[in-house]
Amino acid sequence: MSGNNLTKPDSTRWTIIKLLQWAASYLKSHDIDSPRATGEILLAHALKLERIELYLNFDQPLRGDELKAFKSLIKRRIGREPVAYILGLKEFWSLDLEVTRDVLIPRPETECLVEAALELLSKYSPSPARRILDLGTGSGAIVLALASQQPQHTYLASDLSVPALEAARRNARRHDLCDIIQFFAADWLTALRPEKSAFDMIVSNPPYIPSRVLQSLQPEINRYEPIAALDGEEDGLECFRKILKSVHHGLKPGGDLLLEIGHDQQDAVHRIAFECGYYDDFSCTKDYSGHDRVVYMRRKG
Ligand code: GLN
Repeated sequence: MSGNNLTKPDSTRWTIIKLLQWAASYLKSHDIDSPRATGEILLAHALKLERIELYLNFDQPLRGDELKAFKSLIKRRIGREPVAYILGLKEFWSLDLEVTRDVLIPRPETECLVEAALELLSKYSPSPARRILDLGTGSGAIVLALASQQPQHTYLASDLSVPALEAARRNARRHDLCDIIQFFAADWLTALRPEKSAFDMIVSNPPYIPSRVLQSLQPEINRYEPIAALDGEEDGLECFRKILKSVHHGLKPGGDLLLEIGHDQQDAVHRIAFECGYYDDFSCTKDYSGHDRVVYMRRKG
């Protein structure tokens, strides 16, 4: 390459290394988390390279169109758009999932719900195939993680949002799981009408943030993520009330229910469940940060 004018020393020319240095300090000056890593992820995306390939091509200069593409990604991040929406992808349970602004970005703590569900499923006898429902599936993260690990069962997943269901279906196609997951549009109550009933397990990560807290969340969340997937109304517990009032219609006697909750909601959700009178065997597991995150209960036999 030496002698080639692309590599001619030229301080005005943007190379990968220079751009990464610039991006890290620019993102940092705008208080963006992990500025160096963010710059790398966005540059790799703009150049359609793997992140590691940036390191192998530090001195490569950028074409005008590449520079323009990268700058527009940086501008979106400075505007607080989450990296997952900029890339259109988020990894969950080692699955690459398409995420659009119609769906909540899957969170690492939701993997605890998947773990708890898989642990229960591993105790079921291998046949017959069980019926499992994911209520309010969003991107499909939970149901796809379960189906990818335990493909012998039958899965249903509901969401009120049709664009969210479309994203979830695309994710199922992407991971070749369409044949074992049926998606349908429904709210909490109609998802559990008797004709859809008799589930061995129901899982859900419903909206659980109190409305007044939503305003105080980071702009990444409250400006960009679908409010309907986060807003648990006045005290954050409204969806739990709706789910617990009706979910027993859909669960087989002895069936398992797993719900993701906010870190301070265990007692309240337990109380709601207890007052309904249909559930027992209540327990709660913590997430990797030590916060209460997943509640379990069983439909009384
Ligand atoms: N865990 C999400 C957050 O803190 C909230 C998810 C939800 O409401 N189900 O942003």
